[in-house]
Amino acid sequence: MIPTIDETHDPARRSWVDSANQPASDFPIQNLPYGVFRRAGSAEPARVGVAIGTMILDVSAATRLGYLSGDAAVPALACAAPALNGLLALGRPAWRALRVALGRLLAAGSNAERDASQLLVPMVDADLLVPAHVGDYTDFYASIHHATNVGRMFRPDNPLLPNYKYVPIGYHGRASSIVPSDTGVRRPVGQRKPPDAAVPVFEPSRALDYECEVGAVIGPGNALGESLTMRDASAQLFGLCLVNDWSARDIQSWEYQPLGPFLSKSFATTVAPWIVTMEALAPYRVPAAARPPEDPRPLPYLDDTEDQAYGGVDITLEVSLRTRSMREKGIAPHRVSRARFADMYWTTAQMITHHASNGCNLRPADLLASGTISGTTRDSLGCLLEITKRGAEPLRVGDETRGFLEDGDEVTIRGECERDGYARIGFGECRGRVLSASKV
Ligand code: MN
Repeated sequence: MIPTIDETHDPARRSWVDSANQPASDFPIQNLPYGVFRRAGSAEPARVGVAIGTMILDVSAATRLGYLSGDAAVPALACAAPALNGLLALGRPAWRALRVALGRLLAAGSNAERDASQLLVPMVDADLLVPAHVGDYTDFYASIHHATNVGRMFRPDNPLLPNYKYVPIGYHGRASSIVPSDTGVRRPVGQRKPPDAAVPVFEPSRALDYECEVGAVIGPGNALGESLTMRDASAQLFGLCLVNDWSARDIQSWEYQPLGPFLSKSFATTVAPWIVTMEALAPYRVPAAARPPEDPRPLPYLDDTEDQAYGGVDITLEVSLRTRSMREKGIAPHRVSRARFADMYWTTAQMITHHASNGCNLRPADLLASGTISGTTRDSLGCLLEITKRGAEPLRVGDETRGFLEDGDEVTIRGECERDGYARIGFGECRGRVLSASKV
């Protein structure tokens, strides 16, 4: 899909919601990401909202007040639900129509300003939920830097397996344990085998890690038994959100052969509350990362000229860590890494196409996460396993060090897009704090 620039991207457009016009806001009027919210502590029904500055636009309230009509009426009605699935099923013409209408509603000069008190809920007064009912969650392994770094720990002479440059590698994740940002993550208990022991022990993980990832949220999907072309796949994609694929490395290294990760990953996956649409991301599309000339071309079903030209999204991701003692002393979070999503070896369209290529049906709100996003330098690595080389080279965090996460540690992922001539947009925060393990 060739990205389209329209009035919704106009960098000169301002909102009557003042906080959206602050340059540091993740949510200027050019962004308009979707989430699901309710007023904190209330019994009111959860519903779809759109982030604007420090506020949430209640889409259902805007519908009731008559601001969303014409082509926007049907997608606006789908937003009266406690999940985005209905909107996701409608497809791109409906998504575009709603975005145009929301942009006009929130633009400076709109009559809607007089109904501000009914249209807006302050984000600080709201509970933000997982934005969609995710039926299936798949996690890929699309960063060649991550795959190489991790592979080298196990196979120093041959870090990349021969399939990597042909197959977008993935595993089936667990949808039931997807939690919204700011949910505590309990340290998992499981089997690990100490290197010198003859038998495994069953106890709390000693190697709890995060993984900085971007999740692709699927739109209408494909029928069982049918596949998607690369062009269809790109049309399928609703938007992107931040994901933390929490991982217990000691459990993982004992269980992962021969069928891949299982309980080392299924205990929790945190998602950010806001899904940034592909429409909002149009200005930040870049060519797919160049493959070295000696690498094979993707097989024809994954090879598409449009995707080569626009398949990347230039998102800068940042991970920060704050320990319990830093919180108690009021010390700001420590930035651990910064990486670029555009460096991934496989594009989101290639991951979607590959996923559906065997006839597997993708459904609205399926979540396809990218895998850990890493660059080539120590300050661009997306998990502690890589940064600390399995704990052997601990990371300094304030006046402490970390091989892996300790109880009370809080991990925050942020993402942003910037390009000259366009507004800066952000992804909000994907945050979680480690809770101590339950008694074994
Ligand atoms: Mn992962």
